[in-house]
Amino acid sequence: MAGLITRSIIYPFMKKTLVSLLLCSVGFQAVCNAQSTEVFKRKSYQLTFIEQDTTFSKALKEKLVKTFYTVYPELAKEYNKKTAKNVTFVIDTAYKGVAETGNATVTFSYKYMMAHPADIDVVTHEVMHIVQEYGYSAGPVWLTEGIADYARNKYGVNNAGSKWTLPAYKPTQSYENSYRITARFLVWIEKNVKPDFVKDIDASLRKHTYTESTWKEETGKTLDELWTSYSANPTI
Ligand SMILES: [Zn+2]
Repeated sequence: MAGLITRSIIYPFMKKTLVSLLLCSVGFQAVCNAQSTEVFKRKSYQLTFIEQDTTFSKALKEKLVKTFYTVYPELAKEYNKKTAKNVTFVIDTAYKGVAETGNATVTFSYKYMMAHPADIDVVTHEVMHIVQEYGYSAGPVWLTEGIADYARNKYGVNNAGSKWTLPAYKPTQSYENSYRITARFLVWIEKNVKPDFVKDIDASLRKHTYTESTWKEETGKTLDELWTSYSANPTI
């Protein structure tokens, strides 16, 4: 049983494809017609774009593809030249979140993207997770997510257009709040303590050399000391 459960978590899309194929073979045309796959090859990166429902906006699809080819090569160049060459985007009609990434595949919610077509830098955040490639033994999740939003803030193509910004500092915050709150802290560290800090900490996470003492080795201050300085003067 455990094996079956694991498989359905790792390959949810493949499972759905199989179901579609089975339904097609017994004549459920609505399901057969629903899905389409297109493969793009540019700048030495291949993007396989799968729509589980072809009513997904063509203009939005074009924007997602364009954003991928704008930001992914830049992120690869800056952080990890060995990042995956073949990436898959799936527009998932059943997925309940916004988007998630695993095995160089980004799953986007059909519903969310159709309702928020300006939020195109969901791509930037998610493909940074592919570039990160930290595996299982790396650092805390809040840092992984903070770095992905740091990348979105720096490399995003339409953050202003989607009204996505780093939130102002508040005393109730903690670096463990993750996402944009951690991203803002990282921006502050680079401006006030060490330029290129994120590049270094990202590399240590990928090499699995990251520990909490990495903060002190990199900046001369512990993580908590950095946060205390940040909260005393949080201007970025
Ligand atoms: Zn994320």
